[in-house]
Amino acid sequence: PTDLNALADEYLRLAYHGLRAKDKTFNAELITHFDTSLGKVNVAPQEFGRVLLNLFNNAFYAVRDRQKTAPSGYRPTVTVRTARHNGTVEVCVQDNGTGMSDSVKDKIFQPFFTTKPTGQGTGLGLSLSYDIITKGHNGTVNVESEAGSGTQFIIRLPT
Ligand code: ADP
Ligand code: MG
Repeated sequence: PTDLNALADEYLRLAYHGLRAKDKTFNAELITHFDTSLGKVNVAPQEFGRVLLNLFNNAFYAVRDRQKTAPSGYRPTVTVRTARHNGTVEVCVQDNGTGMSDSVKDKIFQPFFTTKPTGQGTGLGLSLSYDIITKGHNGTVNVESEAGSGTQFIIRLPT
């Protein structure tokens, strides 16, 4: 049993500060809505932590990428939500970054698929995450994304 809110909070800050250590000019707004009724959830903290870290790194990458061409009023934002529903715990990771075209979205869970420049992405993060969520935790993962507007990943785990 793991405190999922604490795990998500820790990895969100780890991802953000890791990126800021390399690029001091990067700033993003972090928004968290943690459902305090979540309690302890049956996840393997190391494995699920890798899932979260990859989602957060992807989200920060996407907002930073969009910022390169966005108007000056653009405010990079990454939002994390947790919620408990009947028999399910939900974790949502949302960003207002580059978003994805449908043709990219169709391939993101394939091993080695990446749109990042050589050396910046292995393309393994989401394929590994998919296995950890579905095979490792009997959960599901859904993605909603619109090119030029942002992306949301929704993980649902049975309780
Ligand atoms: P990597 O990060 O090494 O590229 P991933 O498996 O984590 O590999 O992601 C695969 C691809 O999915 C990324 O290269 C990118 O094209 C797309 N992607 C993932 N998350 C996002 C996101 N939040 N916003 C836009 N594109 C994303
Ligand atoms: Mg990644």
